[in-house]
Amino acid sequence: MNQTTANSAFKILIVDDVAENLRLLSTTLSKEGYEVRCAKNGAIALMGAHNDCPNLILLDINMPDLDGYEVCKRLKADLTTQDVPIIFVSAQNDIQDKVKAFDVGGVDFIGKPFQVEEILVRVKNQLALQAANAEIRALNEALEQRVKERTFEIESANQTLKQEIFQRQQLEQRLRYDAFHDSLTGLPNRQLLMQRVERCLDNAAEDPQTRFAILFIDLDRFKIINDSLGHAIGDKLLVACAERLEACIPPQTTIARLGGDEFTVLLEQIDGRQSAITVAEAVLQQFLTPFELSQRKLSITVSIGVAFGGSEYTCATDLLRDADTAMYRAKELGKGRYEVFTQQMYFEVMRRLEIEHELRNAIAEGELILHYQPIFALRDQKLVGFEALVRWQHPARGLVFPGDFIPLAEETGLIVMLGKWVMHEACRQLKVWQVELPMAQTLTMSINVAGEQLHAPDFLTVVDDVLAQTQVDARYLKLEIVESMLIEDSKQMIELLRQIKLRQIALSIDDFGTGYSSLSYLPQFPVDILKIDRSFVLAMNIEPQNLEIIKTIVTLAQVLEMQIIAEGIETKLQSKVLKDLNIEFGQGYLFSKPLTVQQAELLIDSSVKAQANC
Ligand code: C2E
Ligand code: MG
Ligand code: MG
Repeated sequence: MNQTTANSAFKILIVDDVAENLRLLSTTLSKEGYEVRCAKNGAIALMGAHNDCPNLILLDINMPDLDGYEVCKRLKADLTTQDVPIIFVSAQNDIQDKVKAFDVGGVDFIGKPFQVEEILVRVKNQLALQAANAEIRALNEALEQRVKERTFEIESANQTLKQEIFQRQQLEQRLRYDAFHDSLTGLPNRQLLMQRVERCLDNAAEDPQTRFAILFIDLDRFKIINDSLGHAIGDKLLVACAERLEACIPPQTTIARLGGDEFTVLLEQIDGRQSAITVAEAVLQQFLTPFELSQRKLSITVSIGVAFGGSEYTCATDLLRDADTAMYRAKELGKGRYEVFTQQMYFEVMRRLEIEHELRNAIAEGELILHYQPIFALRDQKLVGFEALVRWQHPARGLVFPGDFIPLAEETGLIVMLGKWVMHEACRQLKVWQVELPMAQTLTMSINVAGEQLHAPDFLTVVDDVLAQTQVDARYLKLEIVESMLIEDSKQMIELLRQIKLRQIALSIDDFGTGYSSLSYLPQFPVDILKIDRSFVLAMNIEPQNLEIIKTIVTLAQVLEMQIIAEGIETKLQSKVLKDLNIEFGQGYLFSKPLTVQQAELLIDSSVKAQANC
């Protein structure tokens, strides 16, 4: 683009009352490519500039009506034209005129007579200046706009950030709450409880006078409710229990749910032991009223262990453990009660743990042995079989009897493994006798089976495996189960016993008469033998009632076509009375104590000889 074309973008207004000047200037500037307009007086100039704003004005001073100064003032007062650069072109060019010209807003002054070249240079300079100004203004505006936009962006980013921080804080609060509370009941959870117990321990370390207490609360038989009525009702019950606890516990007390059906109450400051016991009693009282859940009335009791804390404890878990131990003692003593922790309880737990550990090894180390108590026909005192009774040959404590480890094995589930071993060993021994001692061929082997074994899903498989491995004839086996097995979930139990009977194994009810069941259930179960408990035999000659009970059992057995074995016969008189009652079989110290394998073999031998002598 050449200069002339570039100049065409500029409009120049020439104001002069002398036509000759107008023409000369107009021609000169037009030649340079500028768009030129002319005004021959001030009024026309003002109107023209306002309507079509020029880029530059060349203004004469000396004009009739409005002189150049006045025109300039008015142009500067008009918003449309105020920024247009004005160059005065005048013959009045002494210094005052020039000063005044600049005062009223002119940007330059050219004296008349003027040189065309000067006019062009000055016009060009002013236009360049104006263009530069315009560019600066535009840049400024753009800059301002950018600043505005950035400010807006920063503000909205700030706003979003604030919102995010708020949401994050809320989330953090929620997470912190969730981490320390139980989601079902909303109560504090184990973590929070432990923190608070730690706080109590810190206080007690500073001030040994400080006493506090923990109540460990466990719902009794909650598992049965949960399993039989479903988890939804179980959950509702837990929530209702939490509410009951809150209703009877002093305010500012931590009630926590540890999980499952376990709750704890932390009494952070107590005056004396009695205040914790009062709370325990209030909790027991609170559970006397049945719960009403989903149109169902549910009664549930709680067992409570109380442990007192003070500077003697250094660790929160120890205190909780002791409260838990006391709670277990409350369960053992009949549930629905509280027990206060004593050091003795701790030693007992430790001892039980030790025995449990040793018992686990005992099976693997082959420390278990079987003794065999002979069973005789009362009529002719003929040996008919043995009952296998387990013993523990303890490396340090010597021979341990089942009363000292079977309950623990039942509690810990070890009984399943132990029972498997007993069954296998008793069958193996019977088979050995039957093969080696001809007279032992018809002897039976009675094996005690605990409830946990019967409930194990693979019980029948275990029986089948033992039969297959030992090759013993199932007809010579008798399984002794306890009465309480026949009360629970009877349908399944009847089916299981039927399966046992299908294998031609006989079933005895051990310790008969000591269970709490009613006799009406008995006919449903495929049982062959009732073993009258030792306690009836023992008391028979002392209390006539016991004899009556035995007579009733005999009648019952006759009606149900079952055999009877009397246990614990210690005297000849007992033996005679029982024989006279038509009881077929008996075992007891009168005849023989439980025997080792060698002793049992001698007995089998001697019974053969006795038989031969008859
Ligand atoms: P139980 O099955 O009723 O066994 C009879 C218990 O009475 C045996 O005690 C036996 O020694 C004892 N006894 C027998 N005759 C007399 C007597 O005339 N007077 C007295 N005072 N006692 C007599 P033991 O061997 O101490 O066994 C106790 C219980 O341990 C057994 O009672 C049985 O319930 C359980 N048990 C023994 N071995 C096993 C086993 O292998 N598995 C299971 N699950 N339980 C077993
Ligand atoms: Mg038995
Ligand atoms: Mg018994």
